[in-house]
Amino acid sequence: MFEKILIANRGEIALRVLRACRELGIKVVAVHSEADTEAKYVKLADESVCIGPAASAQSYLNIPAIISAAEVTDAEAIHPGYGFLSENADFAERVEQSGFVFIGPRPETIRLMGDKISAKNTMKAAGVPCVPGSDGPLPEDSREIIKTARSIGYPVIIKASGGGGGRGMRVVHTGAALLNAVAMTRAEAQAAFGNATVYMEKFLENPRHIEIQVMADQYGHAVYLGERDCSMQRRHQKVVEEAPALGIDRKQITSIGERCAKACRKIGYRGAGTFEFLYEDGEFYFIEMNTRVQVEHTVTELVTGIDIVQAQIRVAASEKLRFSQRDIVMRGHAIECRINAEDPFKFTPSPGQITNWHAPGGPGVRVDSHVYNGYRVPSHYDSMIGKLIVHGDTREQAIRRMRIALSEMDVAGIKTNIPLHQELMLDTRFIEGKISIHYLEERLDDLIGVKSAQ
Ligand code: ADP
Repeated sequence: MFEKILIANRGEIALRVLRACRELGIKVVAVHSEADTEAKYVKLADESVCIGPAASAQSYLNIPAIISAAEVTDAEAIHPGYGFLSENADFAERVEQSGFVFIGPRPETIRLMGDKISAKNTMKAAGVPCVPGSDGPLPEDSREIIKTARSIGYPVIIKASGGGGGRGMRVVHTGAALLNAVAMTRAEAQAAFGNATVYMEKFLENPRHIEIQVMADQYGHAVYLGERDCSMQRRHQKVVEEAPALGIDRKQITSIGERCAKACRKIGYRGAGTFEFLYEDGEFYFIEMNTRVQVEHTVTELVTGIDIVQAQIRVAASEKLRFSQRDIVMRGHAIECRINAEDPFKFTPSPGQITNWHAPGGPGVRVDSHVYNGYRVPSHYDSMIGKLIVHGDTREQAIRRMRIALSEMDVAGIKTNIPLHQELMLDTRFIEGKISIHYLEERLDDLIGVKSAQ
């Protein structure tokens, strides 16, 4: 096992990885920007290194600064968390070339899955069902593009092959809007991701977002840890996640999970990963793979009892997986609410000093957050300040526990989206499990109307 790991991230995930390391008896190096000097996980770490000013481009995305921090502290491995450099194949390569272990898949795998077209082609070849669409990049020839759209059938969605974070996508309903939409998505993709390649998919109008968690070691063992439902989204960003997914036949989950595990074996996958699917009319359609730990890994941990972050570290240290598919049993139901520093209904960020922080507790309640009384939420990063996760024997019990936990949670000094979560935990459609990825935005239109009339 490693003696010392550097965590190339910030916020709640830095603390989450630190806790996993502590349990495994591994020393921790925290890197931080000038804006995060006062963060609790920085103080809890065995060593800390300031890697630059607040702007992420000069700190959390600064590859040379992170590598030299690992060198001066004699760390053996680097955990990238999620976001920032976690899916940057060049970073993973630099880490390994500098003699450190990257806690994640091989750089080639990250590169293969980071390009959505190559990811889709790889998955198709491995027998994973994909959204119908153009086989590969859209050509320059307008007539060909029109032909492709007609054969897929409107509406279609134009997506950037190098896209991520819900950006670089455009829905097209009619032939008249097609060519302009392709040109605009290309230009945006070039500006945002440095890659103008776009492809086309059938736009599914009422799908759920269901994803499969996998874990693999370097000896060809791969298992799936069940599914998560992340349909509650706004602007393609997840807001609430749960495991298991309501109303999907277990046999179907087993069949799709086995296909994902098989695909991992086929591509020599290593570490934790997620296969993201849209699920409509009883069918799964692969959209992309995330080659890192995800924000919502917690709900899977609560229903399977497996510590995913520790498993990532063990696998990176060349251990064999300690569990086989037979050992994976889902027990009860877990729900996660992402707690953001923002206006609950307008979504404007609300950074600033937290004057009171009271986290809920009790049976089946978990809070993953780096925040404390007096903590100042910096304005430079993502607005998520923590995650509230509950577990119950049934989904009903989990929802009830979440309602109580949300009512106990007290955050003063800044605005948070707790009031939105309270509305959602009482929402009939959510309770019935009848929501698609578009539901939250539709519901918000109503809620915002009501709130502004009040
Ligand atoms: P990103 O990498 O930016 O997260 P994804 O390919 O995972 O992009 O898509 C993000 C979200 O966009 C999905 O969760 C879904 O809400 C929507 N989406 C993507 N592809 C389609 C599609 N073919 N039909 C309908 N919605 C889609």
